[in-house]
Amino acid sequence: MDIFESLESEVRTYCRAWPTVFSKATGSHVYDEEGRAFLDFFAGAGTLNYGHNHPRLKEQLLLYLADDNIVHSLDMYTVAKRHFLEAFQEVILEPRQLGYKVQFPGPAGASAVEAALKLARKYTGREMIVSFTNAFHGMSLGALAVSGNSMKRSGAGIPLSHTVPMPFDHYLDGQSFQLFERLLDDRGSGLDTPAAVIVETVQGEGGLNTASPEWLRGLADLAAGHGMLLIVDDVQMGCGRTGPFFSFECAGIVPDIVCLSKSLSGYGLPFAVTLLKPELDVWEPGEHNATFRGPNPAFVTATAALDFWTGEGMEKQTIAKGEQIQVALGKIAGGHSEAVTGLRGRALAQGIAFAEPGAASAVCTAAFERGLLMETSGPEDEVVKLMPPLTTTTEELSEGLDILRDSVDTVLV
Ligand SMILES: *Cc1c(COP(=O)(O)O)cnc(C)c1O
Repeated sequence: MDIFESLESEVRTYCRAWPTVFSKATGSHVYDEEGRAFLDFFAGAGTLNYGHNHPRLKEQLLLYLADDNIVHSLDMYTVAKRHFLEAFQEVILEPRQLGYKVQFPGPAGASAVEAALKLARKYTGREMIVSFTNAFHGMSLGALAVSGNSMKRSGAGIPLSHTVPMPFDHYLDGQSFQLFERLLDDRGSGLDTPAAVIVETVQGEGGLNTASPEWLRGLADLAAGHGMLLIVDDVQMGCGRTGPFFSFECAGIVPDIVCLSKSLSGYGLPFAVTLLKPELDVWEPGEHNATFRGPNPAFVTATAALDFWTGEGMEKQTIAKGEQIQVALGKIAGGHSEAVTGLRGRALAQGIAFAEPGAASAVCTAAFERGLLMETSGPEDEVVKLMPPLTTTTEELSEGLDILRDSVDTVLV
């Protein structure tokens, strides 16, 4: 441990919850250097939807590297990029009748969000962006300005401006858009007409709060009615985490801009895209740039990962596995009705919220000691969050859910 603690910055976090040194991983398991196995219900915070080192993706990557194919190319045309764009069009966009253009904004989710915010402001000529309570969109200044968490926001060290938060679905009782709509319509409200609204369908970091399809449709209508662009940040919930490839498909809406990253490469390689309706493509060449916006190895694994999406199998299995989790969480909650404040999330992004401060973290620690990796979510870290790879087998799910139940029972004696 010494080199980590002496040399690595205090900013490190996950390693504090999981004080061991990891070395290997396959499928839904990771192993530390002592050879101890952990079932991974964390999946790189949603980056490893197809598990660790998926053999089919690994094979394509190794072939690509062994043959001296180009690795770094900024935004030059490459064969690997062509294959990715062709496959993305054929497997993802065309079957869903989505006419998006694809921007490669740089490798991180925050890069995709920054590009979306800049483009919305440029296209509309407006400054204000509406975000939602408990949103998380990344740690760069623009993305942080539309994120809710006060600890992360204060890290900016400067005012985060030109944004305004509105209540997410179920934040207040009753009519969700009453306030937002009234402020937009009232010329005395003090709210400048926004360029865009940015939303997650399920708030991965903010506590697995879930927007209903009706709420999302209402938001899309509100945005269209007031000339605001609708940006869906699908960085964590996209690539099938909630069932369909895009998490907003359940609502039947078509956002103006979509951000994807985390599981897009399918292999844990950094890769992001910003999808935009063609009429929004008002960029000047080079107006938004990044050194690592042509990650060819990621193009290769992302193209291979799209094979998971040629039929409906992935979506159906994910929903079925989600039901398995929901039943198990329901039983755990039923056994501790005082301590559990609710079940959260959808499909393979679900969680269980606890009343007692520290309970969720204690459950995750107990689970780690029993060989299961899970993280917490929510403004008070009050939710134990389950995000297994979509490729996790039902047996592995049962095994993990048993460990979870055992961990909850231990913590809530
Ligand atoms: C992780 C995440 C981001 C930021 O992605 P980075 O790669 O960490 O910059 C943005 N939005 C959502 C919803 C995320 O989950």
